[in-house]
Amino acid sequence: MNHPRVIALCALSLLVSDLPVRAFPAAAPSAPEPGVPRTVAEERSERISDIRYELFYRVEEGREIEGTVHIDFYLESAGEPLVLDFAGERVERVSRSVHARGGSTGSAPEEAVAFVFEKEHIIVPLQYLEVGRNRLVIDFTPDERPFHRERSYLYSLFVPDRARYAFPCFDQPDLKARYVLTLEIPGGWVAVSNTSVRAHEERGEQQGTVVRFSETEPLSTYLFSFAAGRFAVETGERDGRVMNLYHLEPDTAKLHRNVNAIFDLHGEALRWMEEYTGIEYPFGKFDFLALPGFSYSGMEHPGAILYRAERLFLEESATEMDRLRRASVVSHETAHMWFGDLVTMRWFDDVWLKEAFAQFMADRIIRPAFPGVDHRLLFVSSHCDPLSDVERTAGTNPIRQELDNLNEAGSVYGDIIYHKPPVMLNQLEALIGDRPFRQALGEYLRAYRYGNATWEELVAVLDRHCTEDLAEWSETWVMERGRPAISMNLVRDHAGEQNAHGTSGAVDGAGDGASNARLVIRQDDPLGRGLSWTQRYTVAVCTPEGIREIPVLLDSHEIAVEAGVPENAFILPDSRGDGFGHFEVDWSGLASFDLGVERMLDPVQRAMLARHARDDFLEGALGDAYIGLIHSLFASEDVELNVQAELKYLVEAYWLFMTDERREAWAPALEDSILEKIRKVFSASAKSACFQAFRSVATTDRGVETLRKVWEGDITFVGLPFSERDFCDMALELAVREVPGWREILERQGARIEDPELARRYAFVRQAVDSGRAQRERFFVSLAKAENRRHEPWVLEALYYFHHPRRIASAVRYIPRSLELLEEIRATGDIFFPRDWITATLRYHRSDEALRSVAGFLGARPDYPSKLVSIVLQAADIPTRANRIRL
Ligand SMILES: [Zn+2]
Repeated sequence: MNHPRVIALCALSLLVSDLPVRAFPAAAPSAPEPGVPRTVAEERSERISDIRYELFYRVEEGREIEGTVHIDFYLESAGEPLVLDFAGERVERVSRSVHARGGSTGSAPEEAVAFVFEKEHIIVPLQYLEVGRNRLVIDFTPDERPFHRERSYLYSLFVPDRARYAFPCFDQPDLKARYVLTLEIPGGWVAVSNTSVRAHEERGEQQGTVVRFSETEPLSTYLFSFAAGRFAVETGERDGRVMNLYHLEPDTAKLHRNVNAIFDLHGEALRWMEEYTGIEYPFGKFDFLALPGFSYSGMEHPGAILYRAERLFLEESATEMDRLRRASVVSHETAHMWFGDLVTMRWFDDVWLKEAFAQFMADRIIRPAFPGVDHRLLFVSSHCDPLSDVERTAGTNPIRQELDNLNEAGSVYGDIIYHKPPVMLNQLEALIGDRPFRQALGEYLRAYRYGNATWEELVAVLDRHCTEDLAEWSETWVMERGRPAISMNLVRDHAGEQNAHGTSGAVDGAGDGASNARLVIRQDDPLGRGLSWTQRYTVAVCTPEGIREIPVLLDSHEIAVEAGVPENAFILPDSRGDGFGHFEVDWSGLASFDLGVERMLDPVQRAMLARHARDDFLEGALGDAYIGLIHSLFASEDVELNVQAELKYLVEAYWLFMTDERREAWAPALEDSILEKIRKVFSASAKSACFQAFRSVATTDRGVETLRKVWEGDITFVGLPFSERDFCDMALELAVREVPGWREILERQGARIEDPELARRYAFVRQAVDSGRAQRERFFVSLAKAENRRHEPWVLEALYYFHHPRRIASAVRYIPRSLELLEEIRATGDIFFPRDWITATLRYHRSDEALRSVAGFLGARPDYPSKLVSIVLQAADIPTRANRIRL
């Protein structure tokens, strides 16, 4: 066979055939600990530069992938052995080019290297190293985990530290390298990578195809990627740039319904980013792939972004939120081409930096594409809940987290790094001013392009554009964990009298003094460190006569605002959702509003009212009034994003915070109000959101019967189309309720699915729904094997039914074993999976037994990895509160 690897190996074997591959003598240098220890990475980035990988893979059906890599690099000093990262299966041979000059394969004589391969490292001893250019050639068998191999395709996903499973390399973001990739793949397959195809040799269905790609720009290892398979391709052009969308979507109607929007979104995002940064798209070509069941929404490989197909190809019944989310994901990944790909963090402790800027840009990019949308409301809807849901837990973490070994990088990801920085960056932009902020970012991107920078290096650039002490500001916002508790008091100047605005009769009586009342705002650090979060936000002073918003600059522990607050006012803090903290609200002020304050508030203010109510409720403050407030907000709400949030709170309160009796008593009213909303509301997407909530809460005989009739097609809703996926969800919800004939419902649904991918997913999830104890046990045991957890979104959906509120009594005994699997899941799964796994497991539990399981598990493991402790504490937070607070 005539393919590059054979040529390379032939040339190599001629030169080295008489040199034995020796086991290294006993005094061999010992390998560092597994993973990529920070100390090793720091030492390497001092010594090694100008790296180039020439990488070859052979992919053949039914066989292990084989690889060869030629690594060229410049070595500053040759005083220590060289440590390469490799967590693959086998190293067949290491050799080096003598007098390497970075020439092409086989141009220099080769010498076999007596290497050590242990603890996920290949050690090249001193005698094979030279100061200056070095060239190593390694034949290896990778660990296939990062290749995500299916029958008709595969794709690589190396973030955060999986490149080292796939090929021997220096797997750290600050050793950027150029890559030249050659793939030998089955005939009929198409291959995509970061750069365009330079040579493509089709040898027929049997002999396979060889694809060689052009050399990349300097890339961090986690950003190098390729995919190959029976992909179809759609080509679009926007602003003169040709883009390709590779996909496996069998539903052509769905494809054509979405494809133009997908190209438009990318075109728009690219244009916006070039304009904002003043830097042209920095990588040659720009393509993307839609992969069914991809674990993340998207991954920003330059020139070859990977997306979860479901995020791009929306159903007809897609909600407005789905379309916004799609625009946001596309813009986020596109923004990464500058923030993350062009300039990359030095180490994964700063991974938040690229996420923060990608999202900061995405939030701005999507504005013009959705002129009818309230973007402030969108920001609040996207970030406020996930952020406070972590911040109120004992497991919250700072934005910047220590990371001693890259093999723990996955644990750094979480809601904090996605949702706190957007709030923080808006505050930072307000502090510096938007023009200087933008100038500074452009300066930073130009200064570090194709290289790496830390947060401190960015702060130094920003500092030149700002009079504030940014280092101190950053210390609190970025380096420390937790949020402030922010309270308000009314102080009447003339009498020197102070009233807690929160006790009944606040600002008592004196109508004459009321207009002079000052609002005193105080922030406290609940973790007792005395920290103060400098921030700008607004408070809305609401009276039956009207609403006035007052800007607040909270720049110390306590400030006074000249508010002129009338005595009957209700004060809504952080009324536009810019602030950061737990804002304590005096709910007694609502009594002044006969018709409900919500009728006077704008959509963002209503969103903040609901969020503060939930936050206070979860902190134990609002009590029984919470459910009435949210329900009344929902009943009169007509803005979709607010309807969605209120539905979420109602469903949460219904399953988690109500006693069984209360829930039973409340169910008919809740079902009715949701069904009524479906009929009353506006858009198909809002109707769909309501129906999803109805599907979740339907428990009365009438409600369940309605659900069954919808599934049968006997009840339809005008303006609300259902997809195959919707019918699957209905069948599964009916089955988990064990309605008469549920097994037949599952069968019939299975038989009528047309989309093969959905059929496989449904068959998988179904196993979790079976009510038999033995079947459920079997299913759970099957999850202990990594291969059965490969389709992570399927597993998470299955866990929803496994731990469904109707099943928690029998599911509680699986909590200890689910926790025991966490460490292994972290080792085998994608980065969000440990958190999602344990969150999906604990979501609807609230029993003493469930909490004892969690406490017992952590108590018995004092040395359990701290990042996993955080994840468990975060997931157990709502269950713990639900155990304490009962409506
Ligand atoms: Zn991202």
